Amino acid sequence: MTDKTLSFDELLAAMPNLASPDQMQRHMTDMSGFEAAMPSVVFRPVSTDQVAAIVKTCAAEDRKITIQGGLTGLAGGARPNEGDVVIALENMKQIEEIDTVGGVAIVQAGVILENLCTAVEQEGWYFPLDFGSRGSCVIGGNVSTNAGGNKVLRYGTTRDLVLGMEVVLPDGTVLNMLNRVIKNNTGLDLKHLFIGTEGRLGIITRLSLRLFPNPQTRATALVALDSFDSVTRMLKQARSDLPDLSSFEVMWQSYLQQAAVHAGKDVPFEGRYPIYVLVEIEGADKPVFHEGFSAFLESLLESGIGSDVIIPQTLEQANSLWQIRDAIGEILGSIKPYVAFDISIPLKHMPEFIQQSTAALEEKYPHSINLLFGHLGDGNLHLTTGKHKEEDILAVEELVYMIASRFRGSISAEHGIGRIKKPFLHYSRSEDEIKLMSAIKNLINPQDLFNAGRLVD
Ligand SMILES: Cc1cc2nc3c(=O)[nH]c(=O)nc-3n(C[C@H](O)[C@H](O)[C@H](O)COP(=O)(O)OP(=O)(O)OC[C@H]3O[C@@H](n4cnc5c(N)ncnc54)[C@H](O)[C@@H]3O)c2cc1C
Repeated sequence: MTDKTLSFDELLAAMPNLASPDQMQRHMTDMSGFEAAMPSVVFRPVSTDQVAAIVKTCAAEDRKITIQGGLTGLAGGARPNEGDVVIALENMKQIEEIDTVGGVAIVQAGVILENLCTAVEQEGWYFPLDFGSRGSCVIGGNVSTNAGGNKVLRYGTTRDLVLGMEVVLPDGTVLNMLNRVIKNNTGLDLKHLFIGTEGRLGIITRLSLRLFPNPQTRATALVALDSFDSVTRMLKQARSDLPDLSSFEVMWQSYLQQAAVHAGKDVPFEGRYPIYVLVEIEGADKPVFHEGFSAFLESLLESGIGSDVIIPQTLEQANSLWQIRDAIGEILGSIKPYVAFDISIPLKHMPEFIQQSTAALEEKYPHSINLLFGHLGDGNLHLTTGKHKEEDILAVEELVYMIASRFRGSISAEHGIGRIKKPFLHYSRSEDEIKLMSAIKNLINPQDLFNAGRLVD
């Protein structure tokens, strides 16, 4: 690739792209259900040089860019503005290196999360990012949204898994920060500007990622409980009794019932308990590992914290429980238009928040269903509500965010702000914080070249 800035026509001739409405259909929106819009062209670069060349031309001709990963985002961040140039990272899918000595992977940003995890496991290591959209989302999208998921409790959010990255800035500069070491106190840690900032400041093209030893074994159980109070008592006990605790996923009765049906499974316990926890540990295959888990489950039942338990005997049975937990994608498809809230609330206020928000929704929108589940080990609740009339969506959002703000919750625990939550950012961040975010955006992306209209102006 030359250093010369190409004209747009030269770019079209030189770069892989899609330009017909039929071909671009898939690139018109993401999983948020946000109203679709047609881009002018979709570029599908295979290298950082190609990304930089596209950016330079677009900057010179002031053509706005929308960045797309796997399009599984739930905040409308990857949905283009009408006529945008889309840069889709889906062809940048090389796993360049797996360092089996130090536990580091160097990858391009368009690698599908599941493919990355499989490749790493084949080398005896483990990349512990995991959630329902694993088969479609890509690592660049995960980093840009600072995704959470099922194992945050043990390994942290995506931010904690990133050692370094390569980024293309809005003027076409390629910033190589592919750091490979955990400790590196050499001034501002610039990678954090691009983690969780949803493509407003740069296009992530390559990443160095932190790997962990591959757990030799796992133990899983589905515990039925009689109340949310029992859930918090179980969480406290799990934290103290289970050093290998990796997941603590909560599903309320109506979610479990719907999810089992959508996953094509029998409803566990025939769905007769009000609340359920899918608990998992992973670690070294020693007798104490399994004995400790059995003792924990027994003590839950003896103390009355747990009402009943299913302990899968095979990997297939355990996977079947996870398929129920992960069936939200299928549920969403059946309740459009929906609002998929992704809220963090201090645990002690969770029952009040749930009571107030579901009561308000039931009163105003009696024909919609409200489903509750979440990564409760992290205080993260998903409240999914639908079907709603399109014209009611803003009022539904306003209603729930207002209640969340009473408890000093966050309006986005892990999905990001994108377009959908931008009007509500003030519920979670102060005016001064939003001003500073805008100032940083204006410093790095002054032309509003990347992802205009999202996160902050
Ligand atoms: C069934 C289901 C379950 C889910 N479960 C979870 C969950 O448990 N936890 C969770 O956190 N999320 C979850 N999500 C949401 C979603 O999968 C995540 O937000 C994911 O990280 C998005 O990745 P993506 O590749 O699809 O990104 P996209 O949707 O393509 O993009 C997301 C944002 O990142 C930007 N972007 C994408 N790639 C880049 C790049 N290379 N450089 C700069 N910016 C970029 C886009 O412009 C956009 O703003 C779920 C979604 C579904 C459908």
